[in-house]
Amino acid sequence: MKIKTAIFSSIFLCGFCFSDCHSIVINKIKGCKEKKVLLTFDDGPSSKVTPQILKILEKHGIKAIFFVLGQRITKATDLLLKNMVQKGHLLANHSFDHKSMTKICKAQQLGILIKTNQAISPYQKEIVWFRPPYGSYNAETISSTKQLGMMIMMWSIDTFDWKRPSFKTVWGRIQPNLQPGSIILFHDIHKNTADSLEKVICAIKAEGFDFINPQEAASLVCLPTETPPAKIDENP
Ligand SMILES: [Zn+2]
Repeated sequence: MKIKTAIFSSIFLCGFCFSDCHSIVINKIKGCKEKKVLLTFDDGPSSKVTPQILKILEKHGIKAIFFVLGQRITKATDLLLKNMVQKGHLLANHSFDHKSMTKICKAQQLGILIKTNQAISPYQKEIVWFRPPYGSYNAETISSTKQLGMMIMMWSIDTFDWKRPSFKTVWGRIQPNLQPGSIILFHDIHKNTADSLEKVICAIKAEGFDFINPQEAASLVCLPTETPPAKIDENP
């Protein structure tokens, strides 16, 4: 009964309607026809690194999606999260404690999604996106996400920033794959990521690309899409 109530409250929290979408799993903002890309940051918030990233994004007038972990939403990150939402960034669900979804049953997956949504909801009422830890998901994950009125956002460019690469290496991964609607994956827990972010942003701009406002991402993807294959990587 308790879970049922939580499910309905989560559906209520998510006001976005994607009933016309053919798929709820995306790895690109397909409806984006302009030279624009979406920046996404996983595994935070981090009291140390996220503020540095926010500062750079603000300087360049860029809004991003932050896929947060429920367990990182504490008193220590309260002001930071309020600040992120106030500045126009979008909070999204990256599970509660980064457990792989494919290693647990559907009821547990659903429970984790709900618990994390509940942790985010004091800061942001509508939670549209879920990104499974390690990019690993199965049919139960899709069904749980759908049940909560949410969609799964994967990525099309992995910077592997958690390996602490040089700017040159990161840019070598981004540049050849830049396309309208690309989704770029970073992590806002590594200082190295924050240190090279401004260079990355300037390089993306120099290629003639601008940045997608995350608030518009859901309506842009609500077009027929194919389900990308589940993939497992070594992201932390
Ligand atoms: Zn992660």
